Amino acid sequence: MTAKSAAAATRATVHGYPRQGRNRELKKAIEGYWKGAVTADALHTTAAELRRENWRQLTEAGVREVPTGDFSLYDHMLDTTVAVGAIPARHRAAVDADPLDGYFAMARGTQEVAPLEMTKWFDTNYHYLVPELGPDSVFSACPAKAVGEFTEALALGHTARPVLVGPVTYLLLAKPAPGVAEDFPPITLLDRLLPVYAELLAELRAAGADWVQLDEPALVQDRTPAELNAAARAYRELGALTDRPKLLVASYFDRLGEALPVLAKAPVEGLALDFTGPAAANLDDLAAVGGLPGKRLVAGVVDGRNVWINDLGRSLATLATLLGLADQVDVAPSCSLLHVPIDAGLERDIDPQIARWLAFARQKAAEAALLARGLREGTGAITAELAANRADLASRAGSPITRDPAVRARTAAVTTEDARRPQAYPQRAEAQRARLGLPLLPTTTIGSFPQTTELRVARADLTAGRIDADAYRARMEAEVREVVAYQEKAGLDVLVHGEPERNDMVQYFAEQLTGYLATRHGWVQSYGTRYVRPPVLAGDISRPHPMTVDWFRYAQGLTDRPVKGMLTGPVTMLAWSFVRDDQPLADTARQVALALRDEVTDLEAAGAAVVQVDEPALRETLPLRAADRPAYLDWATESFRLATSGVRADTQVHTHMCYAEFGAIMTAIDELDADVISLEATRSHMEVARELAAAGYPREVGPGVWDIHSPRVPTTEEAERLLRTALTAIPADRLWVNPDCGLKTRAWPETRASLTSLITAAHRLREDL
Ligand code: GLN
Ligand code: ZN
Repeated sequence: MTAKSAAAATRATVHGYPRQGRNRELKKAIEGYWKGAVTADALHTTAAELRRENWRQLTEAGVREVPTGDFSLYDHMLDTTVAVGAIPARHRAAVDADPLDGYFAMARGTQEVAPLEMTKWFDTNYHYLVPELGPDSVFSACPAKAVGEFTEALALGHTARPVLVGPVTYLLLAKPAPGVAEDFPPITLLDRLLPVYAELLAELRAAGADWVQLDEPALVQDRTPAELNAAARAYRELGALTDRPKLLVASYFDRLGEALPVLAKAPVEGLALDFTGPAAANLDDLAAVGGLPGKRLVAGVVDGRNVWINDLGRSLATLATLLGLADQVDVAPSCSLLHVPIDAGLERDIDPQIARWLAFARQKAAEAALLARGLREGTGAITAELAANRADLASRAGSPITRDPAVRARTAAVTTEDARRPQAYPQRAEAQRARLGLPLLPTTTIGSFPQTTELRVARADLTAGRIDADAYRARMEAEVREVVAYQEKAGLDVLVHGEPERNDMVQYFAEQLTGYLATRHGWVQSYGTRYVRPPVLAGDISRPHPMTVDWFRYAQGLTDRPVKGMLTGPVTMLAWSFVRDDQPLADTARQVALALRDEVTDLEAAGAAVVQVDEPALRETLPLRAADRPAYLDWATESFRLATSGVRADTQVHTHMCYAEFGAIMTAIDELDADVISLEATRSHMEVARELAAAGYPREVGPGVWDIHSPRVPTTEEAERLLRTALTAIPADRLWVNPDCGLKTRAWPETRASLTSLITAAHRLREDL
């Protein structure tokens, strides 16, 4: 096929669409069902209406082949677990008794059975439910959902393409079931799983599916030769089936690298590739393997993970190159639109000038459709749209919001010295010991105390205008008084103010920094019915006024013990926001770091002897490919140091991290050069303490001894045992005693009881040392 005739057939499609509905109708229906207020029938009706509305929106945007099966009542990995019949034994009875309740039991657990573990979907903020497999796992096809939703779309007159998580990714993201050896590799079950996929494909074919998409994002990660062989085998076998639809194997979030030749050679009819961000390397790689002769290429040229309008001219240029590399080229967002909010058109409060720079799911679908039209009909057919796009891009590039000369001058002037504490650690440690005079095994908490109903009500009252800012402040101050008094009485050594005034550890700062944007309806699914509204890093970042100093001063004024200043670090500010795509992340991080640096020095000037800068997201933003990690860790750790290095030797800098698995970032943890780090450690029985010791970590460490993710109260003995384990790795004069994380999700009774255990354990050990 020539490039010209390929262009004539170009269509737009998407891999998936947000599930929740414009007004989060799905959340309301599901939570209503859990409470018994919504029937199963009503829930299914709402779900079907939302699917119909999504397909309508896509069609209206100009998408000519809609996805099905991307919708989910909880999670698409859990849906795949159901589709391949991999129900964990402990959930079997519940699923057999009532598939819907059994489904939610797997997702959320019940009084009797634990849910599936939840973990992050690649480097996004979406969480999936981890399949549990073992040598005895058997699979059986359960095509009801896939076929049902496909049939539904057909009945509505759509050309539809069912989407399933592919077999290789399904297995690579699974973990050994409880009781199975920890080193059991689920990928060894491939031969058992493929016949089940064959059956699902046959059923979809029988229902009328022309194409089926199998998502294989796990292939964009570094893979062993054995894993690549498994992928080759999987698609050789599925490709060889006679009774099957055409297969589109989709990858996203990064380049395919070594997996590209494997998939290009596979006997499947199409590949979907991401061409945005680090995945842009797919373009050269594709040319290097000689393109995809005879195949369909779905080109992900519209960033499916961020909220900015596309550079249509640049995308058209990419597409023009791609037209010579495949038989048919279709246009799509780079990945499922699950990761962006539904409709930028709903954002009435954003300055219309800035709103023009934003594209959410609906707008991205329209961009893909417009690009497809440009290819089909020639750019002459879309000149007006291209001109408008150029104007919007120019307005963004030239805006005082994205170009603040003062911020630019300051970031440009940053030196290596600015990102280094002037004194070496031993000198700092001595100065801090003298100033703080803390006992051995000092006790502290991570920052937040329970976010009680009263606090939430106060915030809602403020938002609704039922109380004014002064009344709100008074309520928060009352809470700080209580939290400080409690901590003194309980005998904690380094106190916190409790963070009652913070809705969220990122949003709270985003609201106060210039250059950040808040959305009204920008909800994105985090997991299940939990949605977050990430703020948008839209412009150059500056701090018009101190953000936390008054709260610190108030709390410190109530006690003689040191109160920690409490901030969110630059990497976490980026990780839990939508970031700029018009400059390197490192530049944005540096701007945020400088704003935080001013806050840190202001806290010091206000009397803070300890300042904690949380970086729980340092690990999760790690690039998917190992080759990209050093560069990331370089700017990530530099931005932390830039934020924290403006203080005196006797001011103690703490940091905090959670969500374990520190292995890959051990060196980076050291490079933060924080005086004290607290980490999540309870569930892994202090593994991180041993890892740090093995890596020669020279500074102070507080491995958590209370798993705050559970309402369970640890006994004094448990806490003591964990501390003794920690002491085998970390010397007593460098060990802190603290919980795993902040206490905002806990209630007061268990908080008091647990902290008593923790403090008593520390006191007992002190006597022994
Ligand atoms: N200081 C924050 C808190 O205590 C830290 C939260 C986190 O690490 N996720 O809530
Ligand atoms: Zn934490």
